[in-house]
Amino acid sequence: MKVQAVSGKTLPTEPRELSEVADWFAETDVVVVGLGAAGSCAAIEAADAGAKVMVLEAGSVGGGTTAMAGGQIYFGGGTLLQSECGFEDTLEDMYQFMVKSCGPNGDEEKIRLYVDNNLDHYQWLLDQGMEFKAEYYAEKYTNTPNDEGLICSGNEYAYPYDTIAKPAPRGHKGKAHGEDGGAYLMRTLTAALEKRQVLISYESRALTLIQDDSKRVVGLVVRIDGEERCIKAAQGVILCAGGFIMNDEMVKNHAPRLAKASLPLGNPNDNGVGLRMGQGVGGSLIGMSEGFVALPFYPPSSFVDGIIVNGKGQRVINEDSYQGVVGDLILNAPDEKFYLVIDSRNFEALEKPPLGGFGVAGVGETIEELEEELNMPARSLSHTLEQFNFHAAEGNDPLFHKRKPYLKPLNEAPYAAFDISINSGAYFPVFTFGGLNTQPTGEVLTEDRQVVTGLYAAGRNTCGLPRSGATYSSGFSIGDATFFGRLAGKTAAQNTK
Ligand SMILES: Cc1cc2nc3c(=O)[nH]c(=O)nc-3n(C[C@H](O)[C@H](O)[C@H](O)COP(=O)(O)OP(=O)(O)OC[C@H]3O[C@@H](n4cnc5c(N)ncnc54)[C@H](O)[C@@H]3O)c2cc1C
Repeated sequence: MKVQAVSGKTLPTEPRELSEVADWFAETDVVVVGLGAAGSCAAIEAADAGAKVMVLEAGSVGGGTTAMAGGQIYFGGGTLLQSECGFEDTLEDMYQFMVKSCGPNGDEEKIRLYVDNNLDHYQWLLDQGMEFKAEYYAEKYTNTPNDEGLICSGNEYAYPYDTIAKPAPRGHKGKAHGEDGGAYLMRTLTAALEKRQVLISYESRALTLIQDDSKRVVGLVVRIDGEERCIKAAQGVILCAGGFIMNDEMVKNHAPRLAKASLPLGNPNDNGVGLRMGQGVGGSLIGMSEGFVALPFYPPSSFVDGIIVNGKGQRVINEDSYQGVVGDLILNAPDEKFYLVIDSRNFEALEKPPLGGFGVAGVGETIEELEEELNMPARSLSHTLEQFNFHAAEGNDPLFHKRKPYLKPLNEAPYAAFDISINSGAYFPVFTFGGLNTQPTGEVLTEDRQVVTGLYAAGRNTCGLPRSGATYSSGFSIGDATFFGRLAGKTAAQNTK
């Protein structure tokens, strides 16, 4: 194998012509770009289908953003874990919930396929070595705090979702402590991959794709040891290189709303190169403006007993909504003030800053005093609280339908308010949902919905299941990346050389 000399700047949106390739550094059937959730699953399936597989990973270790994640995976319709924890669920309830939660631009074909096959997918992960502890964590939390396997990960029990589908907890986290669920998942998948005859090349950065005269993708250019090398992929290339939240210019151009959130979440290689490589050979990008933005205002779950108001003292949401729904709502009004109002039952939090990093904006012996301290019009916040308490005492919330057990009158003075506005110092983690448009099989589509032959994509390189931050539930992203990663691997392995 000779190293190919390549001159000039190699850009992801400028694919290399096959005629320009002097020599192949390596030849294989399927090349997978990126060793995260999507890439590892794609590689396992392609190898199991008999293809010779090579994985290229830019980092010196794999895992990507998946290894940084809490690791919740969205499963339901009666998984073993759900039944061991005493919950009943149906595939139809899960489907209806996901249709609402994947947003107005959701792909119903992908959702249906995911839901109908998710029990098999759960079993497949068990077969790869995953373990889930049969314990349900009942409190509202960003993840299970210990190694409990099951949690309600989104809006299942909140209005209006509870009127659309019978609620059930569907956030499944592998047997790992707290936020280590993603690292555990990646350790398990990487170990499963290493048992196969798959070559994993670390510190290998994919740069651009190679096309033949018929515009079929036949390989790619990669930088290894500081040299650009060409690798032939007879059956295809699968792009699994993650999202673009770390690329400021792409975020500004495609998702300016998300640029206002304070904390881009991801690994440094979430720079959109995979998306641009796909674009370079005609792949279309969709859902690019959407993403997840959260306000992690719980734990403690008792903060959900508080009320969230705007600068006019008016409530804005049912506070038992998922942290992503609250974050999205606040991001939609970046110049407005928002406050979380609590009463003295939660005052110990004033001594120890809550997880969300937000500061105390005011404290009052009475609600009127707090209203004044927050520079709100007289009788605004006090009126809101009076009305809220009146109905909460009866177990109702006619305005926003906050549900029990979080619906309690807020009447134990004194009161305090946290500033949860954008630019207040509150922590608003954010990542992107947009990416290449694909068939459920992973085949990349052009703007005219034609298949780009030889090119596949999965995970956050694609616009997959999650498409709306305003309705998202945790677990959709890794569920999507692992499930559709597998399908892309299978499809590429079946591609005729
Ligand atoms: C803190 C945090 C918590 C989260 N918690 C959850 C959760 O609990 N549940 C959930 O569903 N989602 C969660 N998410 C979102 C979820 O983790 C991601 O959307 C998902 O893991 C993306 O998987 P992926 O395989 O597409 O990308 P990644 O896991 O990022 O894998 C992509 C890989 O490609 C590599 N790569 C990039 N460019 C190149 C290149 N040019 N050449 C070679 N390799 C390249 C990267 O180094 C990386 O290893 C969380 C995200 C964060 C940041």
